[in-house]
Amino acid sequence: MLSSARFIGWSFRQNLGRYARYSYSTVAKPQPNPDIYHNQVFINNEWHDAVSGKTFPTVNPSTGDIICHVAEGDKADVDIAVNAAKEAFRFGSPWRTMDASNRGELLNRLADLIERDRDYLASLETLDNGKPFHIAHAADLDLTIKCYRYYAGWADKNHGKTIPVNGDYLSFTRHEPVGVCGQIIPWNFPLLMQAWKLGPALAMGNVVVMKLAEQTPLTGLYIAGLCKEAGFPPGVVNMIPGYGPTAGAAIALHNDVDKVGFTGSTEIGKIIQKAAGDSNLKRVTLELGGKSPLIVMNDADLDYAVEQSHFALFFNQGQCCTAASRTYVEDGIYDEFVERTIKRAEKRTIGDPFDSNNEQGPQVDKEQMDKILDLIDSGKSEGATLAAGGNRYGDKGYFVEPTVFTDVKENMRIAKEEIFGPVMQVMKFSDKDELVERANDSMYGLAASIFTKDLDKAMMFSQSLRAGTVWVNCYDVFQAAAPFGGYKMSGTGRELGEYGLENYTEVKTVTIKIPQKNS
Ligand code: NAD
Ligand code: MG
Repeated sequence: MLSSARFIGWSFRQNLGRYARYSYSTVAKPQPNPDIYHNQVFINNEWHDAVSGKTFPTVNPSTGDIICHVAEGDKADVDIAVNAAKEAFRFGSPWRTMDASNRGELLNRLADLIERDRDYLASLETLDNGKPFHIAHAADLDLTIKCYRYYAGWADKNHGKTIPVNGDYLSFTRHEPVGVCGQIIPWNFPLLMQAWKLGPALAMGNVVVMKLAEQTPLTGLYIAGLCKEAGFPPGVVNMIPGYGPTAGAAIALHNDVDKVGFTGSTEIGKIIQKAAGDSNLKRVTLELGGKSPLIVMNDADLDYAVEQSHFALFFNQGQCCTAASRTYVEDGIYDEFVERTIKRAEKRTIGDPFDSNNEQGPQVDKEQMDKILDLIDSGKSEGATLAAGGNRYGDKGYFVEPTVFTDVKENMRIAKEEIFGPVMQVMKFSDKDELVERANDSMYGLAASIFTKDLDKAMMFSQSLRAGTVWVNCYDVFQAAAPFGGYKMSGTGRELGEYGLENYTEVKTVTIKIPQKNS
């Protein structure tokens, strides 16, 4: 059992403290064997088997054991879900005529239900994804609840403008929902990625057909049940568990899907954008991969920078699109930084994610573990120094040792490719101008960060780094109000905040002729 006091003493306290401080008032109770209530397709507020009758297993990555089988939705199920969504979006439907503030009330009610079931949901996430329970409970659930509440507040506030055109006309704009939103989410933050997509879409009055990641379908299905309990009308939220090339592709290619929102790999992001072009030019937003630089200057607080750069890479088993997987350290502190970083990685606790002493759980599946181990091999063979870890941990489940490479060069695969695992690359620099070039020399541009006490350096780097988010003396600080997204091949569009509403609204201009004299 965990108490809130325990979090304060926890080694990532600077980061988790953020969440714990504001909303962590209850005691978290892990349920290592949570009951599974939903494993079917959710359409029109009803549960169905897949049309094909097929199912697929979802696995506990701590053990490799099958948790349960889940309905395998594909194109046939997507077609039915899109029709249900279209019907819910029909002009004059209960959803279309609902007072905007009532949409906000439904989202707040959903947030209340998630709070009610917080222990259960955090436990289910841990079982299906492998992330440590105490982190899921404090971080994932906190951010998820806050995201729904944040967008609940926007439901009746995103209105248009009155525009003076000329004397004969009045123009005004309406911010209308886009329509049927196809949303495809990944497995690294299942509850949170669902909230980032459902929150703004529903607040703005859209209807949704969402495909859950095949590795982690369980919490998303449970949330579908809570949407029904909260009172969303049938057809507004539809949830399809299934695979990418079948169910996901059917959404991206569907001619009646007005908008697709995708989070995942850059490789699949390209396929999604192409599918939109090959079908109905649906609006596309993409949140893709990263290879984010984290820069530590000579003048940084060294203990803090070591802990933060450790967190920036190893958080969530390294399975973060923002993972700071290129750590640039200035030459004056490089040796000391490396020594402390290795010690910190070796101290990292790994094992059963339901044990609150563990900072790190398993990778999400065998495929990811094998990909990570292959990249570790490439680092070794390309001449980087393996300073910590480097192997699978244990022989059950998909654990990988916290791994640190030093003497890394930019042309190595581990410095270029997204590893999505607990593998840190440390590189030395001495020239600041050259460093800007090196840090920006990547196809990605999702996040970046700088640790320094010098305001001039902080400002110079925060302006010159080509990334959607720059953190100064901190990392992975996420807030529902602050927009998030990528430059370059890290994506298009922004999620979260007021900017995130743009993806889910069409702007309509209405122009009215004004008679100039009484007739
Ligand atoms: P992925 O891009 O294949 O999966 C993300 C989502 O897209 C899943 O729901 C998947 O089913 C779906 N998908 C897959 N193929 C599709 C298709 N042809 N059409 C429509 N949807 C499709 O990612 P992955 O295979 O789970 O992981 C591979 C790599 O992607 C990881 O190693 C990591 O580097 C990266 N990744 C990034 C994020 C992120 O948050 N940006 C999340 C997960 C994975
Ligand atoms: Mg699973």
